[in-house]
Amino acid sequence: MAETPRSAQLPAKTPAGGAPAIKLENITKTYDLGEVQVHALRGISLEIYPGEFVAIMGASGSGKSTLMNILGCLDKPTRGTYFLDGQDVSGLSKKELAGVRSHKIGFVFQQFNLLSRTSALENVELPTIYAGVRLQERERRARAALARVGLAERALHFPSQLSGGQQQRVAIARALVNDPAILLADEPTGNLDSRTSVEIMDIFQKLNRDQGLTVAIVTHEPDIAQYAKRALEFRDGKMRLDVAIQNRLIAEQVLPTLPALDEDGIEVVAGSPPDLASGPQGS
Ligand code: ADP
Ligand code: MG
Repeated sequence: MAETPRSAQLPAKTPAGGAPAIKLENITKTYDLGEVQVHALRGISLEIYPGEFVAIMGASGSGKSTLMNILGCLDKPTRGTYFLDGQDVSGLSKKELAGVRSHKIGFVFQQFNLLSRTSALENVELPTIYAGVRLQERERRARAALARVGLAERALHFPSQLSGGQQQRVAIARALVNDPAILLADEPTGNLDSRTSVEIMDIFQKLNRDQGLTVAIVTHEPDIAQYAKRALEFRDGKMRLDVAIQNRLIAEQVLPTLPALDEDGIEVVAGSPPDLASGPQGS
């Protein structure tokens, strides 16, 4: 991706030691299917602070998406309290939640969920309409968000004219456009090849490092979780593990070691002859 211009970089939203961006107290979620009740979350307590980068892991069915949907105000817990950016949102109606979501949450999906007959720019603008941003301001914000993910040059492309990785970057720009308190992503690399997955982790790491964005992603791939700062593991609706990532990977350093792909997704072999690469290092 293109480097984020210095001028576009923002300070962290809250200094270290501030209030949590997210605080969950004993959250449960039970899906009532009539005959059976599915206990998808069984008492989750958790705090995520501004500037954190959290990977949520666990087997299929362990409750990761249920948690993300609650964090993202797409669904409500059965019991428990959820503070988002200091506000208790547990008792809000669906309509109120939608308002909170549009101002405080950026959500990225595994399937990108872009509108196909709509340009990258218009896709990114959409949440600004729901948030009531003035007409003149919308395009400016959408272009700035595309620039943050290195896609300023692709504003007028349609999703079908973009690679999977570029489509996911448009989806990340769309998630950023209302300047959320936290960026949530449910399996954001689940549909991408391994190199493109690292490119997406590079974007998340740079947003987190350079702009202080708080990030939480779901992944079931341990090597993707290595790019986060903290890992949570879910099993059967409970949080079993909460650890700091050791030997964290930095995508910017990993990318040059991976084979590049051409436009058809075929590996490109680097050009320098072996005798030059292995020869003595003169200057
Ligand atoms: P994960 O994302 O970790 O794979 P989910 O949060 O999607 O897990 O699911 C947790 C449990 O809740 C699973 O047993 C799943 O079948 C169940 N579940 C998820 N969504 C619903 C729903 N809308 N209705 C009923 N059961 C659901
Ligand atoms: Mg899931």
